Amino acid sequence: MINEKRLSSIRRILKHFLPQIRPQINLILLSFVALIGETVFRLLEPWPLKFIFDEIIYKGFQVESLKVPFLDNLNSFGLLSLLAVGLVAIAVLRGTMAYLSTTGMAVAATRIMSEVRANLYAHLQSLSLSFHHKAKTGDLITRVTYDIERLREVTVVAALPLLTNVLTMLGMLGVMIWLNLQLALIAIAIFPLFLLTTTAMSRRIHKVAKKQRQREGVMAANAAEAMGAIKVVQALSLQSMLEKSFAKQNKKSLKESAETQRLRAGQERTVEVLVAIATAIVLWRGVQLVITHAITPGDLLVFITYLKVAFKPMRQLAKYTGQIAKAIASGERVIDLLEIVPEVRDSRWSYAAPLFQGMIEFRDVSFAYENQANTLNNISFKAFPGQKIALVGASGGGKSTLVSLLLRLYDPLEGQVVIDGHNLREYTLDSLRRQISIVLQDSILFAASIRDNIAYGCVNATEEEILMAAQLANAHDFILDLPDGYDTVVGERGATLSGGQKQRIAIARAAIRKAPIVILDEPTVGLDNRSERIVTEALERLTYNSTTFLITHDLRTAKNADQIFYLEGGRILEQGTHKQLMNIGKHYATLYHLQQTVHVN
Ligand code: ADP
Repeated sequence: MINEKRLSSIRRILKHFLPQIRPQINLILLSFVALIGETVFRLLEPWPLKFIFDEIIYKGFQVESLKVPFLDNLNSFGLLSLLAVGLVAIAVLRGTMAYLSTTGMAVAATRIMSEVRANLYAHLQSLSLSFHHKAKTGDLITRVTYDIERLREVTVVAALPLLTNVLTMLGMLGVMIWLNLQLALIAIAIFPLFLLTTTAMSRRIHKVAKKQRQREGVMAANAAEAMGAIKVVQALSLQSMLEKSFAKQNKKSLKESAETQRLRAGQERTVEVLVAIATAIVLWRGVQLVITHAITPGDLLVFITYLKVAFKPMRQLAKYTGQIAKAIASGERVIDLLEIVPEVRDSRWSYAAPLFQGMIEFRDVSFAYENQANTLNNISFKAFPGQKIALVGASGGGKSTLVSLLLRLYDPLEGQVVIDGHNLREYTLDSLRRQISIVLQDSILFAASIRDNIAYGCVNATEEEILMAAQLANAHDFILDLPDGYDTVVGERGATLSGGQKQRIAIARAAIRKAPIVILDEPTVGLDNRSERIVTEALERLTYNSTTFLITHDLRTAKNADQIFYLEGGRILEQGTHKQLMNIGKHYATLYHLQQTVHVN
């Protein structure tokens, strides 16, 4: 039920969510007040019946004088009517209080969890690429949606009722002790027995539930992975293999789910029996006490009713602990994620970068991906404002890695990346990345209108800027030819665009930033000749005046660069203009000649 570990988990969750909880504190307090009100009315519930028993039925409908002063003048019939109305009034008031506390808590919980979800989402976006390369997308999505939802739900469907019930139970115990100590002690005696059994059982439920949650996360991740690569899966006929492994996980999850249900049902059964035993003992002793006039029949009635009502929470205690255990597991998974600190992040002393001139310098930069040999070794160069730098060399040489250091997607292991004389780390990430435009080989468009896709490049883009960017990118004309023009929705389930058209929209998105630094990662690969010409022309306009890094395999596009770096094994083997590298006559020249013959043939 409640043990040290569970308590510390709850403390951890509450502490983490405190900033979100604080603004809701008034609402939460109000719900508590209503909750206490509800408890009081619950305690009062059997009392009209007790009076009817003791004062009316027991005395043969002959009420002479009640001890209660202002009811002195009532006859039996009047009293009966009053008590009947009281019964209804208590029920109405109790219901209203319950309504208020549930609604209050539900609203508070929803507000808190939607804040937490927004934070989690923002946090995920801020985590470094090195994290995202390792993380499973499906698992992350489960945490943002499912786990958060369960945390919200559990406050209303389990935590709140649990609290109400514990309070009610304590209140009833108090009243029982006041009515008759001996009978109350019998009820209390059953407690330790109850606690022992349910604690042990809840611990097992918690364990199985957690395992099941983890498995579901893995399953979601696997499914997302397979769906994301469905083309490859089908092409390689991997369906049956994937289906088999999925079915295996699914079966295990099913087993664990059934096991949780079984454990929970077993727990409820135990509680039911304990309740019956307690009731039987109280009745057995209670009737003797009534006969010896130690208590009235009405008192015994209150006792029995209380026992039923006070033990009901116990039954539910058992039911809710399972749910709470699951929610705690969810909460921990959410917090585990929130506690991961982005490897690349702003430091306390970073400041917003001024508008860059575009002077870029790598000073003895080395870099390695996690647990791997160095991908970049002692890279040093200077790129002057407005220069075009071409990065060439075989795949795996480290070209993309080099530009990702410029974007500060990763931090170098050694050395410094310097822009306009300052280490990148001095600038805030946002102000740095905002001044760099990129166009990749396979540009990704979002499931949104073309207008929005272009505007994503710059937060406050005006309509005019969007049009100008599209014109610069040679995209304006074909966009106007689309069914809804700039409002045409692209991406998933949207209009399909050709590779060249996509690239041009990506160029427009890059152009709208008017960035002093541009990165092009094989932007024309896979395009037909005509598209390539149009895209290349757009790229020339995009990069005009910007310090540009162009990753390319096609040396014809590298030829006109101000500097060409030939990379291999994470080192710049050759560096210079086309002419200089041709004069060296080694790697670059060999590759160039090779490509020449291919193109000629
Ligand atoms: P290029 O762009 O020249 O083809 P890359 O910079 O993409 O080269 O890759 C350089 C090396 O780093 C390759 O060996 C590649 O396998 C490795 N690499 C690239 N990205 C990652 C990554 N996210 N995690 C681990 N290794 C990577």
